[in-house]
Amino acid sequence: MNDDRRTALLVAAIEDGAPASELARMSLPSTYRAAVTKRSDVAAATALPEEERSVADTLHVESVPTPALAPDEALVAVMASSINYNTVWSSIFAPVPTFAFLDRLAAEGGWAARHGGDRHVLGSDAAGVVVAVGSNVARFAVGDHVAVHGNWVDGEDPATYADAMRSPTQRAWGFETNFGGLADLALVKASQLLPKPAHLTWEETASTTLCNATAYRMLISPNGANLRLGDRVLIWGATGGIGSFAVQQALATGAEPICVVSSPARAAALRRLGVRRVIDRRAEGYRFLTDDGTGVDRAEVDRFAARVHELAGGGVDVVFEHPGRETIAASIASCRPGGAVVTCAATTGYAMPMDAGVATTSSVRIIGSHFANYHENARANDLVRRGLVHPTMTASRPLDEVASATQLVRDGRHDGKVAITCLGAPGTGVTDPWRRAELGEDRISAFRLAVGRSAPTPGAQSPPETSSTLALPAEIHGII
Ligand code: NAP
Repeated sequence: MNDDRRTALLVAAIEDGAPASELARMSLPSTYRAAVTKRSDVAAATALPEEERSVADTLHVESVPTPALAPDEALVAVMASSINYNTVWSSIFAPVPTFAFLDRLAAEGGWAARHGGDRHVLGSDAAGVVVAVGSNVARFAVGDHVAVHGNWVDGEDPATYADAMRSPTQRAWGFETNFGGLADLALVKASQLLPKPAHLTWEETASTTLCNATAYRMLISPNGANLRLGDRVLIWGATGGIGSFAVQQALATGAEPICVVSSPARAAALRRLGVRRVIDRRAEGYRFLTDDGTGVDRAEVDRFAARVHELAGGGVDVVFEHPGRETIAASIASCRPGGAVVTCAATTGYAMPMDAGVATTSSVRIIGSHFANYHENARANDLVRRGLVHPTMTASRPLDEVASATQLVRDGRHDGKVAITCLGAPGTGVTDPWRRAELGEDRISAFRLAVGRSAPTPGAQSPPETSSTLALPAEIHGII
């Protein structure tokens, strides 16, 4: 039997809700379809300036060998994944080609050696079905419907038990490791598995994991800003991947978001979602850097901070920061004395001109944040399972169109999240249609409806047959 046939049988069994015992007996394909970058493309791409590099030239969909399974790992049949900004970085080899990460990991030897090679399977999100587990895996089993989070850590490192994000072994799966989620199969550590929210489709699930958890650590976790009832929080890029979750978490916490976006349509969408204070940065014409780009335009920063003070009735308690170079000075100036700027990224550049005097005299804390530890990932996933946070997926493309989907995100032409369907058909994967009906389509799809983009309407088709509901772990039914 060839690999295409094996894959087709696997998908049919999953769609039919075959029992775990049947899935466990099936022979897995020895190769699978995956979105990859290639070492052979690095030299030509990196000879060009970053802005001239083309995702279409360097992000390929190819067949790759199925890796062997280590004792602490699981193999997941990926029904859907999503584009993250790290997909953009990886595919244009910026700021560095990710093969540098893979080589470093592979050099550790043993099982880690599998991560080397000349192709990098990308993707830091996935939703799917466990199809194989290593001998040490106990909490999840073949047949489980899972969401996969992208925190890849060495479970034997003591630092992992305090806060895995401070462990030198921590890596972003599918970015700093191989075998990521933009593929028909994914190799994960069992500690990356979370129970799938049963009321969501595969692609809705896959579009919530990384960005929701990143926002959770930044805003809600004690490792981040520890947001409280009544806090005022300035959110940059509030309809973007992480921003769209930050807004939901702020509203759910009883905090008051002051949101920044770059168009009237985005501002209107946020108002429809219940945000009362929005700044359209483009309409108000802010430019925080001097013309030569090396310094801060103090007058512009002050003009923005005054606008924030006007809307918030004073400086904000927290700033949700990620644009970086172009906005950091404005973020610091917008804080109340003793406020915090929590940042996870620097989309516009890591070398950041800022007036340290403002930060010091106002005792503003700058909190560096990166993704989320296992516990924070589980908490963020629970918010989705319990219907307190909803997906922000506005578009879904098949895996074969991963390059154009990545380009869409690179160009900032998307809102919220762009999902990728892999083995799953669009709009499938809901195993608790009653819970979905109870929460209501208008709430689950509130973000997509608010931004008013046309997208496949997940869940709009008939709920799937209950046979696959029966295959769900009891734990999922118990919670939802
Ligand atoms: P995204 O979906 O592209 O959203 C980013 C938003 O930022 C855009 O919607 C845009 O909104 C805003 N923006 C872009 N340029 C800006 C500028 N010059 N000034 C002000 N706002 C600007 O990306 P994302 O998924 O939210 O990710 C955002 C950043 O976080 C990326 O750099 C990503 O790599 C990083 N990230 C880091 C982690 C981590 O673990 N450390 C995890 C996830 C993401 P408007 O144009 O509407 O203002």
